[in-house]
Amino acid sequence: MESTKLPSAPVQEIFAALQEQEHEQVMFVQDKALGLKGIIAIHNTTLGPAMGGLRMWNYASEAEALTDVLRLSRGMTLKNALAGINIGGGKAVIMGDARVQKSEALLRRMGKFVHNLGGKYYTAEDVGMSEQDMMYIRSETPYVTGLPREMGGSGDPSPVTAYGVYVGMKAAWKYRTGTDSLEGVRVMVQGVGSVGSHLVDYLAQENASIFMYDVYEASLKEVAGRTGATVVDADEVYSLPVDIYAPCALGATLNPDTIPSLTCSVIAGAANNQLLDEERDGQALKDRDILYAPDFMVNCGGIINVSLELGTYSREMAMKMTERVYQTTLEICTLAKDENITTHAAAWRAANNRIQQIGRNRLFL
Ligand code: NAD
Repeated sequence: MESTKLPSAPVQEIFAALQEQEHEQVMFVQDKALGLKGIIAIHNTTLGPAMGGLRMWNYASEAEALTDVLRLSRGMTLKNALAGINIGGGKAVIMGDARVQKSEALLRRMGKFVHNLGGKYYTAEDVGMSEQDMMYIRSETPYVTGLPREMGGSGDPSPVTAYGVYVGMKAAWKYRTGTDSLEGVRVMVQGVGSVGSHLVDYLAQENASIFMYDVYEASLKEVAGRTGATVVDADEVYSLPVDIYAPCALGATLNPDTIPSLTCSVIAGAANNQLLDEERDGQALKDRDILYAPDFMVNCGGIINVSLELGTYSREMAMKMTERVYQTTLEICTLAKDENITTHAAAWRAANNRIQQIGRNRLFL
């Protein structure tokens, strides 16, 4: 077989990206016969084995897939560190359309690649994956979490994620107003899927005044019937006069188009990567005196939940550990104020500090 000579520039660019973001290891995997093209990125294992979901997405290019997996794995390092768990950051992606290209064989092949890492990376469910898919991967490796409860796994993480968002929201509201009661507080929930619908339940129990929007009408109908929450139109999501905005659908909803319209004084939601540009949009919120509870700080319940599969799983323990989000939120808001930095920057600083301190501790007996 003739060897393919690679142009040096792309390889150099990849190494430059790994160095800049400080990734430990990246594995490119493929199986032409099965149509598998994937990347596993291990960002940091100082605190423990890397953990993060496996995403299957129809990326426009290989470069887009690489950018995504590098960014997401780094995010997992920070989320896990701030959550106070002994888990590092990693993520995996498969390039392709999950609706038509996913198969048992392809997933099991991916499972073998995960297995080859010998437990340095544990995978889990993410966009494009189901519990059944995780079970296919489990056929090839024990280094997979997010399995159904019947199989000794931790089951659906969404209720735990919603609980973390809820207590984070209460803490941010307390920091802002002096009370953590959400009774009568107007909350706009964007997206009432797995996490958003559970969040609405918590808010309804507290008699908050709930507004919600989802592109999927059936979910709105179901949640409204159960909780009495008010359904609003798409164009009201960012401008309706509310006290709290909870993004629970997509990322990047905090951007120059939306931030000027917001009327809320607190933002706390489950969606990943809510700030389109972390520095610019985090600063814009600070300038508008809107208290932003960083997404990776409040949406850690799901990863806490699956991380417990590494020992003996208990839902009670997952909820108890997730309750720490309340205290963490208060601390991060205080740090941001004291240092005159954005809450996003404060949360990153606290996460990095924990990694450095625990990493240093490992040098000693
Ligand atoms: P989901 O797919 O169950 O729910 C998302 C909901 O958002 C769906 O009902 C969908 O119809 C709706 N939606 C999509 N586009 C919308 C739009 N433009 N406006 C309003 N609604 C829209 O997902 P989920 O598991 O509830 O996760 C929600 C968010 O939280 C995602 O960003 C996810 O990455 C993040 N997250 C989830 C977990 C978890 O445990 N599930 C953990 C951490 C972070």
